[in-house]
Amino acid sequence: MLAPPLQRLVTELGKLPGIGNRTAQRLAFHILRTSKEDAAALADAIRDVKEKITLCEICFNLAEGPLCAICSDDRRDPELICVVEEPGDVIPIERTHEYRGRYHVLGGALSPIDGVEPDDLKIAQLYQRIEGAEVREVVLATNPTTTGEATALHIADGLRARAPGVAVTRLASGLPVGGDLEYADEVTLGRALAGRRAL
Ligand SMILES: [Zn+2]
Repeated sequence: MLAPPLQRLVTELGKLPGIGNRTAQRLAFHILRTSKEDAAALADAIRDVKEKITLCEICFNLAEGPLCAICSDDRRDPELICVVEEPGDVIPIERTHEYRGRYHVLGGALSPIDGVEPDDLKIAQLYQRIEGAEVREVVLATNPTTTGEATALHIADGLRARAPGVAVTRLASGLPVGGDLEYADEVTLGRALAGRRAL
């Protein structure tokens, strides 16, 4: 029913996560109404992100050039490495301003059911990185999900075997700030109890 170029845009937009056919149509009509400059800016931004963004050679975070902004910053502690699943996980940790070390982005989590094995992630590269440098601590900040926990345990074992001098830590699981004990689910509350610390 739509003119072929418009249909093509609807189809492409519909491939984005969380965008159903109706939303894709609404966006396509919006783009059609927008100025030529604004539409071109959107197209250029999409093209640019694919052409210019690569993976950092050291930590596999997103980078513009061979190294990411964090690996090229001398003020970041090179002896402290935080392991995360995806590049997007770096952002919330950076936002806390609590962390001054480096990162290592795995590119996912172990999930044998989905066919994700250790070789599919940047795990060997992490071991290599630690063996070739002075690292004091590795913080395993994979998600608190079944696959994230399995990944953390797998890496913790691997690190203990290869670099027994390196401290391996896991992010504490706890209660949301401003939350109420009464409303906490038992898994979260159980972990908060297990991970309690002295005051
Ligand atoms: Zn990097």
